[in-house]
Amino acid sequence: MAVVKESLMDALQENFGFTAFKGNQEAIINSILAGNDTFVIMPTGGGKSLCYQLPALISPGCALIVSPLIALMKNQVDLVRSYSSKDNVAHFLNSTLSKTQIKKVRTDLQSGKTKLLYVAPETLTKQENLDFFRELDISFVAVDEAHCISEWGHDFRPEYRRLKEMIDQISDKLPIIALTATATPKVQSDIVKNLDLRDPNTFMSSFNRTNLYYEIRPKRKKDVTIKEIVKYIHQHKGKSGIIYTLNRKTTEELADMLVANNIKAVAYHAGLDANTRANRQDQFLHEDVEVIVATIAFGMGIDKPDVRFVIHYNIPKSLENYYQETGRAGRDGLEGNCICFYSHQDVQKLEHLMRDKSLSEREMGAQLINETVAYAESAVCRRKVILHYFGEHSDVENCGKCDNCLHPKEKIEVKNRVSIA
Ligand code: ADP
Ligand code: MG
Ligand code: ZN
Repeated sequence: MAVVKESLMDALQENFGFTAFKGNQEAIINSILAGNDTFVIMPTGGGKSLCYQLPALISPGCALIVSPLIALMKNQVDLVRSYSSKDNVAHFLNSTLSKTQIKKVRTDLQSGKTKLLYVAPETLTKQENLDFFRELDISFVAVDEAHCISEWGHDFRPEYRRLKEMIDQISDKLPIIALTATATPKVQSDIVKNLDLRDPNTFMSSFNRTNLYYEIRPKRKKDVTIKEIVKYIHQHKGKSGIIYTLNRKTTEELADMLVANNIKAVAYHAGLDANTRANRQDQFLHEDVEVIVATIAFGMGIDKPDVRFVIHYNIPKSLENYYQETGRAGRDGLEGNCICFYSHQDVQKLEHLMRDKSLSEREMGAQLINETVAYAESAVCRRKVILHYFGEHSDVENCGKCDNCLHPKEKIEVKNRVSIA
């Protein structure tokens, strides 16, 4: 890659209007500009996008950004375009485009005006696309949400496994930058191995979200729990929140109950048609509804900075999921309350969901569930347990922002271990 003369700070200001880099951004960008394989592990909201957007804008050629969700691609592209006066600076190429639109994208790419091209993994499975990209000047490939490569991640996508093979067909010298908010050692090594990152410069940020408050509440009878939730929301009137439940039916039931209690709430799950989902997501983003009751289908890449609470009506299937889902609270750095209802029954429901899976999948699942159970039943600082899970050591004895630190309790025996017969 050619040397970039302009100073990075000027480029930051010019292209994004920001006056300072966040965390490791500058070092990461320098690593990419130097043509190194680069591995970025940074919590949600840390500012990963800018790490590839800025070098893409100032490097010769066009960067390919692999992103798992077609729905998010348009958002990202609109965002990049909003900083620039030229619409053709960023495009996406996926199955939603018409023939005419694809033609326009290709023309812009060939003219060299496009600096960022967002693609779905599926786009790269098409040989004609690979052949087309081979003729272009590609600056580097960014693999966003790189944890999708790993079965140990919270959102495994098999197509991600084939990325390296497809990237190699475009050119064998393309620097790769992998980005994820998933820091467990297993996921990390899967990513490095699968993308065959060559001696990558690795940048890992702290996973401590100091503004988030963590609490586990025992889950009692359904109506009692719902009353508790209604009370909580009424105490936080006008604030935005997400409630996660295990299944689709519960999202509808719970949303109905909230509405009956004068709370502006909607349900969100993958069983709804795309239009309804998009509308409800917009309603939430624009604050026409206060609370979205959702399955895990909701949230990936949603950038609503002022979500004030994330309530788990059911315990999630892994601590990783819990961290990601609660991570959607308080992205602006202000208050964020994370409350999880926990019962042994819900643990059994999670086990039940795995019944048709292979033995190895069930073993893997049971291990993840056990870690969540241990978290829920622990008397240790919640933050400490979460950070430990991500391989981060915390010296803080009392974080002052979790139930266990605020109300120390006697140690509870871990009794709800899941074992695979
Ligand atoms: P991630 O992908 O790591 O979850 P994003 O890339 O979506 O995070 O960025 C999160 C937010 O941080 C966005 O609103 C973005 O505009 C903002 N942001 C990123 N870098 C900076 C910066 N240097 N200064 C100010 N805001 C930034
Ligand atoms: Mg991101
Ligand atoms: Zn604590």
